[in-house]
Amino acid sequence: MIKGLNYRFFILLSTVLACTILAFFVGFIKNETIVYTHSFYAPILLAGVWYRKKAIYIALFLSIIYILVTYPLAHLSIDVFARSAIFVAVAYVIGLVSEERAKGEEKLKETKDYLDNIITSSVDAIAVVDMDGIVRSWNKAAEDYMGYTEAEVIGTSNKKFFADPEEGEKIMRIVQRDGGLKNYRTTVLNKDKKPVHTSMSAALLRDKNGVPIGTVRMSRDITKEVELEEKIKEERDNLNLILESMDDGVYIVSKDYKVEFMNKVLIDTLGYHVGDICYKVFHNRDDSCPLCKNAEVMKGKTVRWEWDSRRNNKTYDLFETPLKDIKGTMSKLTIFRDISERKRMENELRDAEERYRVIFEHALTALCVIEHGEVVSLANKEFETLSGYSREEIEGKKWIDFIADEDMDRVQNYCEERRKGEAPACCEFKFVSSNGEIKQVNAWIEPIPGANRCIASLLDITELKRKEDELRETCEKLTELDKMKREFLNVAYHEMRSPLAPIVGYASMLERCELSGKGKKYLYIIEQSARELEKMINRMLELARIDSKKIELSLEGVYIPEVVAEVVKGIEPETKEKKQVISTVVPGVKIQADKQKVGAIFYNLISNAIKYTEEGGKIDIMVVDREREGDIRVCIADTGIGIPEEHLPKIFERFYMVDTSLTRKSGSLGLGLSIVKEYVKLHGGKVWATSEFGKGSKFFFIMPKRQ
Ligand code: ADP
Repeated sequence: MIKGLNYRFFILLSTVLACTILAFFVGFIKNETIVYTHSFYAPILLAGVWYRKKAIYIALFLSIIYILVTYPLAHLSIDVFARSAIFVAVAYVIGLVSEERAKGEEKLKETKDYLDNIITSSVDAIAVVDMDGIVRSWNKAAEDYMGYTEAEVIGTSNKKFFADPEEGEKIMRIVQRDGGLKNYRTTVLNKDKKPVHTSMSAALLRDKNGVPIGTVRMSRDITKEVELEEKIKEERDNLNLILESMDDGVYIVSKDYKVEFMNKVLIDTLGYHVGDICYKVFHNRDDSCPLCKNAEVMKGKTVRWEWDSRRNNKTYDLFETPLKDIKGTMSKLTIFRDISERKRMENELRDAEERYRVIFEHALTALCVIEHGEVVSLANKEFETLSGYSREEIEGKKWIDFIADEDMDRVQNYCEERRKGEAPACCEFKFVSSNGEIKQVNAWIEPIPGANRCIASLLDITELKRKEDELRETCEKLTELDKMKREFLNVAYHEMRSPLAPIVGYASMLERCELSGKGKKYLYIIEQSARELEKMINRMLELARIDSKKIELSLEGVYIPEVVAEVVKGIEPETKEKKQVISTVVPGVKIQADKQKVGAIFYNLISNAIKYTEEGGKIDIMVVDREREGDIRVCIADTGIGIPEEHLPKIFERFYMVDTSLTRKSGSLGLGLSIVKEYVKLHGGKVWATSEFGKGSKFFFIMPKRQ
């Protein structure tokens, strides 16, 4: 600077000296009358430019020189002074102009320094990139967060700074198109090739003619913000996911009832209404609902209430709470749940409880609830009657106080086992009432699931017991009598059979004697009646044996066709007499059975079929050998009188007879089928009958082939 000053000063001094010498030379040595002053403007001009208004001193000095030179030449005139004044004026003007210019430059420099300072000290990275993408400027902040020094990047392409190599050109295109770029998010790569999230603003640089010469780009490291945003987004996504996946309806409304958020459940039910006014879209109203809690919630209150919607007949549980966003704007968050089903169940439960209370109270048995197997907590009216205590006295009393000492341990053990589910439901014990009276009770003790309590139902069976004892006594007496009767009948049957033997014997002997026609006829009647009587007595004796369990099976291989043939042969005279046809379908099957009893079964059923079938009827005997079942199935069908439906279930009972002319004629006793039933049962089989009244009957029996 000083050097510069000296240089300027030297030149100025030289020009001033040159002008002075020229003036003296022209004026004194050459004795010219006219002094050429044009050259004076050179130092004035230089002084004006360099030293601004100080140029006036140069102008004054040169004016003096001019006057001094022109004075001896006697040319001093107004013109000389005028010229001198012009020197001063020119010097002043030039000085003034250059001073103004200097001021402007200074200001410009100041501004430039200021801008340089800003650029250098800016926390944002500032880079200037020319139109070819070459970096022309790179500030300190850019060095800091990109890791490249100014020297490393100036003059190089900006491509390498972007994660996407096309990004540099893209930014340039946008800036050219729009004249600038604001808060543009991009990812740059630092010197270590690590991605840095950046927010960039850029402006187009133009030269003085307005031609674009590059872009100035300001970038800010927003990695932290981006991470935070991602975190917030993630949290918001999670929150949204929770809200979306909730079964409850969730919505947010603003202070002025605008719907700001609806979750999926709500959108599915009411449609998408974000941005709409809640009372309009949810309640179809022109003003807010009278029950709405918006104002309350906006004051910061959290409310929970139930709302009965008359529109869809449902009840909702609403939880409403204030919600503030980052800016502090208050909204109302509502979570609501359809609790109609729960309400219905609660009501049902209440009804059921009431029903059970009434049943409990008015039950005809004494009921009480026992807590922890010890204390009676609840009792009904009947329990009051049974115990003789008032309800206040009962409730809180120990359960064992109602049990007679002799039964106490047994009942307590029973209760314990009952709780474990190891004892039968019922237990009998002696109950002690308030006046010490002992009552016999039957107790049903039922543990209540999920609670350490049980319910006891007590039935006073004192009277029942007394009657039962009476009945038992009567029964025992009757059994004794029945036994005596059976024994008597057994003896009687035997006694009745004894005189029959000589009657039948002598009758057959008389047959061989010479008798008149009438005598022969009477004898025949005597013999037939005696045999009939013998048959009846035998049957009664057989049943008496069955009853006294004195009967045993004598098992052997019984060839069924043989048994059937024997029975049919023995019965032939009767069939012939009644002109009946017997057909048999009997396979050659052998079973293990008591032959005599199997014969009796066939005999009774076939003789019944003959007996209850009119003349000319048909009897079919069918035996089926059932290999798979391991038994035989026998059917004896006739075309006889049949059995009325109401009698069918009873015909196998002892002495049961259907009153028909044929029964009366046959002199039956109603014992044949009961013997059949007992014999089939003894063999492990079963017998049954079907019949169509007036058309015929079918008797079936099944008998296992092996015993
Ligand atoms: P009963 O000795 O009187 O025949 P049963 O015990 O053999 O005694 O028969 C009982 C009753 O069953 C008979 O009185 C008769 O009315 C009826 N009954 C038995 N078999 C037949 C049949 N095949 N057809 C019609 N009724 C029958």
